[in-house]
Amino acid sequence: MAIEPGQGGEPARYALCAGDQRLDLNAHLGQPLRLTWSGAIACTHCGRATRKSFAQGYCYPCFKRLAQCDTCIVKPETCHFFAGTCREPQWAERHCFQPHVVYLANSSGLKVGITRGTQVPTRWLDQGAIQALPILEVETRQQSGFVEILFKEEVADRTNWRAMLKGEVAPLDLVAERDRLLARLDGGLAALRERFGGEAIRVLDAAPVTLDYPVLEFPRKIVSHNFDKKPVVEGTLMGLKGQYLILDSGVINLRKFTGYEVTLEVA
Ligand SMILES: [Zn+2]
Repeated sequence: MAIEPGQGGEPARYALCAGDQRLDLNAHLGQPLRLTWSGAIACTHCGRATRKSFAQGYCYPCFKRLAQCDTCIVKPETCHFFAGTCREPQWAERHCFQPHVVYLANSSGLKVGITRGTQVPTRWLDQGAIQALPILEVETRQQSGFVEILFKEEVADRTNWRAMLKGEVAPLDLVAERDRLLARLDGGLAALRERFGGEAIRVLDAAPVTLDYPVLEFPRKIVSHNFDKKPVVEGTLMGLKGQYLILDSGVINLRKFTGYEVTLEVA
């Protein structure tokens, strides 16, 4: 599923892509659709058939072999590149040894997150954030992990996806939150600069971003569809937020089923 920011105050654009086919989901709001999983899963990296999906879309060999599936991607502070044990040092040079952005977002309340410079604002749309503000830029993924740990003393790093999907999220003054947190964590940031060099962690002067989603009606109660339990998912499309389709029969996290061979029928 491809998500792009909306232009000129429009909500985000959602499309389902398969090969060179592209279906504009926004155009199907309020209409019935049916998703049917064939039972097949193809590894998103190597294409091999796999009975089970690991780390949202990989076969077991790729899951064990690829650097992008290593635990240090989720916990960047545990980067082990300099111990000589990186699974794919060349991949790491392209992905981990690149500038990363530490941001504040409001997905189900205030949270801190990290992303590669180029991933903004895709990352925020993926999380269903309604507001976001880049606050710091660092030189490597590992440094972003250390900064995130520091911020986690004060703010969450997870989204409560049920609250996010119910649309029960009050707007925040992210600039004020940034200033408050930077002042409060000043000592910790100074210590990190001492360790990595004064230029390694730079404060950004960015403007907050507002993100809007195409939703006709938020669900009052959250019921989740799961292809592993029921291969046919159908209902009227009521909205799109984060990686979720909101149907009148329940919600489905499409990211979770990356690699699943699914047929889509629309009215
Ligand atoms: Zn694979």
